[in-house]
Amino acid sequence: MGNSVSELQVNIQMVDLQRQYHRLQNEIDAALLATVEKGQFINGPEVKSFAGKLADYLDVPYVIPCANGTDALQIALMALTLKPGDEVIVPAFCYVAAAEVVALLGLTPVWADVDPDTFMVTADTLAKACSSRTKAIVVAHLFGQCCDMDSILSFASKQNLYVIEDNAQSMGAVYRFPGGQTRMAGTMGVIGTTSFFPSKPLACYGDGGAMFTHDQQLANTLRMIANHGQQSKYHHQRVGCNSRLDSIQAAVLEVKLSHLDEFNKARQKVADTYDEGFKRCKGIKVPQRTASSTHVFHQYTLQVNNGKRDALQQFLKRRNIPSMVYYPLPLNEQHAFRQAVRPVEKLEVASQLCKTVLSLPIHTAMREDEIQYIIQQVNAFFESDGLQAGCE
Ligand SMILES: *Cc1c(COP(=O)(O)O)cnc(C)c1O
Repeated sequence: MGNSVSELQVNIQMVDLQRQYHRLQNEIDAALLATVEKGQFINGPEVKSFAGKLADYLDVPYVIPCANGTDALQIALMALTLKPGDEVIVPAFCYVAAAEVVALLGLTPVWADVDPDTFMVTADTLAKACSSRTKAIVVAHLFGQCCDMDSILSFASKQNLYVIEDNAQSMGAVYRFPGGQTRMAGTMGVIGTTSFFPSKPLACYGDGGAMFTHDQQLANTLRMIANHGQQSKYHHQRVGCNSRLDSIQAAVLEVKLSHLDEFNKARQKVADTYDEGFKRCKGIKVPQRTASSTHVFHQYTLQVNNGKRDALQQFLKRRNIPSMVYYPLPLNEQHAFRQAVRPVEKLEVASQLCKTVLSLPIHTAMREDEIQYIIQQVNAFFESDGLQAGCE
């Protein structure tokens, strides 16, 4: 590797937002300055314009921006006709947001286990969590690809359940139904939600989020809840909240949306290179791709066998390669949820995954030499048969 290693050592990041900014600098700077110049920082024309562009991109009639992805889930749940104690099924292996807002609203979270290849809930794992009190399901399109929506939607329609899609991690992924028709991730359930947190596939320079729906009445309700439950100014129809996307974030998002497909392709290329580089590596399982969805690789998540995950992570860290464990603890084992939930049988896959997953750096501006360096070091760890790793 010679000289390039020491140079690489300071540069590799899980997500490199600085490098991405420098590539888009002219467009972003112009959009930011124009927004500041106009001075309409809340509900400015940028918010409307971005929401319209995102609606076109997703092929969905209504996009309702809000303050962040967690709020989007909360407002979505508030808009459905649910009563305290109603059960909402959420994935046990996931970010905390969905379970958190379910509990916060006085609804009862119920855990669903996940599939060991895709990390996501399936119609089967949902069925195990379902009871006569179940009213809704929140599915998350995790790490960049869609859940098996065809079977999930038919399960939900048989059981008469709402499906909310948490699409914070898979914006731009395309789902293909068995009949051949395609839909964008986040537009298949009754409401889709997303986050524009800076590291997400479609991201701003702060906090932001949005909800999507095909239903006009629901769109009005979502909009009203996000705006203090106001039907018209100072006339409050219901108890709502204050959840807004600001104009500066919308201006950034409109620029980034125009590059989203190209960004997703860039991450797919990194994932393809990783897959190829790990072909002969026995100690890991590379992320599996489902046949029914494209994968936009928000994360590239390995499963590391034989209890070597933490040793691999330390080994990489010493070589200045960052990696992350998404997620270290299943939600059913979190202290916060020891009471608010209805327990279910066993969540074996979720707890197993928490011990084996490791996500490698992946972003839109990775250099080939960085990817090759990471591949070389992961392979080196296993070639040393863990011996070196164990005593280093
Ligand atoms: C990031 C994320 C959220 C929460 O988004 P915020 O904007 O941080 O509130 C929700 N669900 C999933 C799956 C996420 O990855």
